[in-house]
Order: sequence, then C-alpha cells, then structure tokens
Amino acid sequence: MRLYENEAKTVFEREGIAVPRVLGVFEKAADIQGSVGPGSPVMLKALVLIGGRGKAGGVRRAAGPAEAVSLASGILGSKVRGYPVERLLVEEAVEAVGGACYIGVTMNPADFNVTVIVSPAGGVDIEQVARESPDKILRVELPGNEKVLPEAEAARLAAFLASGLGGGTAQVDALKAVISKVYAVFQKYDCKVAEINPLLLTAAGPVAADAKIVLDDNGLYRQEGLFHLLGLATARHDVSEPTRNEVRARAAGFRYVDLLAEGHKKDPEMLYVGLVPGGAGYGIFSIDEVANVGDRYFGGRVTPVNFMDSGGGPTVAMVAEMFDLLFDNEVVDLVITSRFGGISSCDIFIRGLVGCLRERRKAGRRVVPVVGRMVGTDLPSARDFLERAKRETPDDLEDMKITVGNQKIMAEVIREGLRFAFDRKGWT
Ligand code: GDP
Ligand code: MN
Repeated sequence: MRLYENEAKTVFEREGIAVPRVLGVFEKAADIQGSVGPGSPVMLKALVLIGGRGKAGGVRRAAGPAEAVSLASGILGSKVRGYPVERLLVEEAVEAVGGACYIGVTMNPADFNVTVIVSPAGGVDIEQVARESPDKILRVELPGNEKVLPEAEAARLAAFLASGLGGGTAQVDALKAVISKVYAVFQKYDCKVAEINPLLLTAAGPVAADAKIVLDDNGLYRQEGLFHLLGLATARHDVSEPTRNEVRARAAGFRYVDLLAEGHKKDPEMLYVGLVPGGAGYGIFSIDEVANVGDRYFGGRVTPVNFMDSGGGPTVAMVAEMFDLLFDNEVVDLVITSRFGGISSCDIFIRGLVGCLRERRKAGRRVVPVVGRMVGTDLPSARDFLERAKRETPDDLEDMKITVGNQKIMAEVIREGLRFAFDRKGWT
C-alpha cells in the first residue's frame, strides 16, 4: 500500500525527521487563499500515488496567496501522469542552502537484503542518476535485517553524501541522523520503500521536501498504530487508473484486464483475439496458449487482448455482457471462449452467448467470429439449446463454432479458431 506524500511525511516527522510546515490539504483552489500569508512562498503538490509529479506539472511553487490560487486551479482537476488530481497539499516552501540529496531504503528482491541508497544528486529521478552518473550513488546492502542501521554504515553513507554536497562535519552528523531514521522507519513500519527525494539542506538543517513510503501489504496486520496515526480505518487498495473496459466490467461484476493500452493502434498484420474463458486460471492459460499457438502455426501474428474472469455462477446477462464488451472493442477480430462448467453452468453460458449474438445482429451492431468449447455442468441441456438455436436463427449464429464436449483439447480448438479467422481475412 502506497502512502500519499502528506501521510509519508507524517510518519517521517513522527520519527524525528524535519518536514516543511503544512498549510493544509485542499480540494478547491479558492479555499487556499486564506491559508497563505502575503509574501510567503508555498509549494503546491498534487496528492497522487505516483512519482515524477514535478516534471509533469504536479508540483508548483507560488510566491503568495493570489498566485497559489491561480496555480492551484490549474492543477486541481487536471491529470498528473494519468492520475486525476483531487487534492492538493500546500506547504511552506523551504530553501536549500547546502544542496539537495537522495536517501532511500528498500529491499533487494534477489536476496531480501535491506538496501540503503544515497546520492548527493537529489530531486532527480534516482534511476536516471544510476544510469548517467553511477559514481554519484552509494548503495549499501545489509544482510541480517537488523532493526537499527549499524553506526559504521550510517557514518560511511553520511560521509559520502557530505563530500558530494561539499559540506563539513556538522553536515555529516545531521545526515547520519536522517539516514538512520529513514532506516528505522523502513523497519518499524514494514516498508517496501522508505525514501526522501529531495532532502533539502536548509539553514536550519536537513528537511524532507518530498517523501515516499510503500508499505508491505503482508505487514499491514501489525500496523494498527500506523493506521491510527494516519486516521485510516482500513487498508487502501492502490489501483492505477482503470481503462474504460475495466470500469465497464467492474460495474457488471466481473474481473477484466486490458492487455493493450487504451487507444492501441491496430496493426493491420496482426489478428487480435478477445478471450471469454471459464475462470481465472483458464483466463491466464488462454492468454499464453493463444500467443503460443499463434507463434507456432501463424508466424507470431496473433495477439490476445484481455484477461477476463466471471467468477463462479454468472447470470445469463453477465455472460452476454462479457461478450458484448469484446464485440464493442474495434480492435478485436475473433473471440475465443471456453466454458469448463464446474460451478458455472454451460446452459447459462450458451444462452448468454446466443442471446448476445441475436441482439446484436438485430440491432445491426458489430459482431466477430466466436470459436470455443464447452464441457461440464448442464451440458445436455446446453447442447439441446444450442442445436435448437442454430435451427431457429442460423444466420445470427453463422460465425459461432462451439465444440460441445471435450473430444478436443483447447490448443486444437484455438488452432482451428485462428485458422478460421485467418481464412476469413484471406491471410495465409
Ligand atoms: P516528485 O516530482 O513527484 O518527486 O515531487 P517532489 O515533491 O520531489 O517535487 C518536485 C521538485 O520540486 C523537487 O525535486 C524539488 O526540486 C522541488 N521542491 C519540492 N518541494 C520543495 C520545497 O519545499 N522547496 C524547494 N525549494 N523545492 C521544492
Ligand atoms: Mn521527489
């Protein structure tokens, strides 16, 4: 769970690290006016759960109340790196006299060693520093998961920073204290990341101008005190901005993930395959298997477009909506489906699919070929329904090929489906 900047600063401050004075968190630009004193510069900072806000216009400095209001109205309601800005953190701007640096504590995913990273090049993207000037970074790994940063390591890290910043011994002590405290925060709150970038060296000592904390979700159960400190009742689930399809699926009550970016430009040489699988496991399997069969037999010209999972026991309407969502997607050329009816019924599945196709044909809406297999619960009644449906409305179901029973493995069904779609396009 990622903390917002103001929350992370609350944590750092509690552990003794200086942070800028907060003037408030605002949802409306006009409300800021009264909180900013005339002639006192402030920082306006978009509260969004993503870094790199500065470069994206999500962090601005204002000289006084009027400018604060006008800049704030530009940020509030805008998007910063795709994240809608609903709240602004307004703080007193602090002035660096001795430079800016980076302090981060994280865990090396390869060996689980806690890793402290420092750099005198603060305020810049640390990955960029690592690429362009690796000599400006010191990385110290600490095996043993110690609760306190060993004195010698703290001294080494602080000395590296102070020499890079051109500061004296007084600075070394202050930096050593901050590094040790960031390390302590990382340990105490079960963090995945605890980071200050930049730490500004002001006349009154180091101040954390920005703060980032990512909590390890596995440790949340023992962080009651932290939730209390931040006034949070329950854990937040971090979600990046969902696509339109994902929002639509959520409203209909099934899980869906787009594999292509929103507004993906269709490659005319590729076949795009939408998937309506039986469950989550099958959903993941189908993604791999469609790509795999495409690579082996169709020259790699096949790309799956989605993950989907109805959960157990969907209704006829939900099944229809699962297909509708893919038919409405202009990118999709073919839908491959599989109903392995355990908890879910084949009967409901086929009624959903047939109903969807009939409705769309009647309304003149877009339809693409559907190929798949169904097996399991309620298969006999599903087969009867399907045969009757084909007799009654053959035209509506022309491009639907559903294998009934498991005389074929899915790889074969997928291969035949892709062949069918390739033939329809006149591709070899
Ligand atoms: P990020 O881009 O999302 O990491 O947002 P930051 O909070 O780091 O803000 C971007 C940049 O604004 C920082 O790297 C600093 O250069 C600058 N900045 C942020 N807060 C302050 C402040 O209080 N005083 C000064 N002088 N600069 C600040
Ligand atoms: Mn930053």
